[in-house]
Amino acid sequence: MKKIQMVDLQSQYKKIKETVDKHINDVLDSSTYINGPLVNEFQNDLEDYLDVKHVIPCANGTDALQIAMMGLGLKPGDEVITADFTFAATVEVIALLKLTPVLVDVEPDTFNIDINAIKKAITPKTKAIVPVHLFGQCANMEEILKIVKEHNLYVIEDNAQAIGADYTFTNGKKQKAGTIGNVGTTSFFPSKNLGCYGDGGAIFTNDDDLAHTLRGIVNHGMYKRYYHDVVGVNSRLDSIQAGVLKAKLPHLNDYNNARKKVAEYYNNAFINNPNIITPIISDFTTHVFHQYTLKITNGKRDELHKHLLEKGIPNAIYYPVPLHKQKAYIDERYKEDDFKITNSLTETVISLPMHTELDEEQLVFITKTINDFMN
Ligand SMILES: *Cc1c(COP(=O)(O)O)cnc(C)c1O
Repeated sequence: MKKIQMVDLQSQYKKIKETVDKHINDVLDSSTYINGPLVNEFQNDLEDYLDVKHVIPCANGTDALQIAMMGLGLKPGDEVITADFTFAATVEVIALLKLTPVLVDVEPDTFNIDINAIKKAITPKTKAIVPVHLFGQCANMEEILKIVKEHNLYVIEDNAQAIGADYTFTNGKKQKAGTIGNVGTTSFFPSKNLGCYGDGGAIFTNDDDLAHTLRGIVNHGMYKRYYHDVVGVNSRLDSIQAGVLKAKLPHLNDYNNARKKVAEYYNNAFINNPNIITPIISDFTTHVFHQYTLKITNGKRDELHKHLLEKGIPNAIYYPVPLHKQKAYIDERYKEDDFKITNSLTETVISLPMHTELDEEQLVFITKTINDFMN
């Protein structure tokens, strides 16, 4: 059996090596390392794929969030509501910009931000909501859009984990994850569903004025060379990474389908196991399975984690500590009672190997090992 990996980027690379290598060699031959033609080409390809007016490439997904918040003109003291159960990048940039993070609980089934918790957290200082489309499925955007309309807030979708997922509104209209709010962000970190071979990120918006503002911010606040109208940052997607992404984007739907097949295999294997809850998907969204995350209900999550590692099956706890308990983000206003779900998820979730190259032999071994241990 091939060694099981949490993410297998090497086997995936071998299948697209020719195109990737050609793009990288084009960059080397032309020495257009920064802002080369491939950056613009990838940007256009991604705008078409997402059906969004503007894609602004940048250096990583954390920068993308920060730049989005800068572009919306959020000011120190403004409150930004986001989920307690997510990767720290989301709350980190809120704090860095001296905005006030307001963490709220998530739903027990989908792990996405809880709509009632958002409503409860709104104050006159609230300026924005950052839903994270966690593990590959969309948060309830229709409800979030109703809230922002009523309270005149911005929505920044952290779409680092759900690129390619489709959201369906009750009227039947479909939109790609990350293109629904005022602005969406993503990461091209290598292990993401659309990953490059280094760091990369992007910001999406349908708002022409905001897109113009964002394009200046990523480039030192310049709208005309050497004229700095606003405080900006230096955040670029380099040409080599754009070349990798341009080679991979045409395969994104296949990659997401391969992940879905793995998820279906796992689901079927665990269907009769009383101690395992498999992922539950909201009916308004597809799931692109950035992570395949189980809930272990018999209190043996940590034992399972160790057992699988001993058997050579990588697995991970995303996320082991709620953000509201992280030293950097502790705030005396938070009450433990308001984070019941996140607190319990950090003790029950476990994510299994998930990538485009898992084969049947590996899946049989993983699921049999888990079922044997959990019965
Ligand atoms: C990966 C990730 C980020 C950060 O992306 P980087 O490119 O690593 O900076 C932000 N938010 C979420 C939810 C992520 O999963």
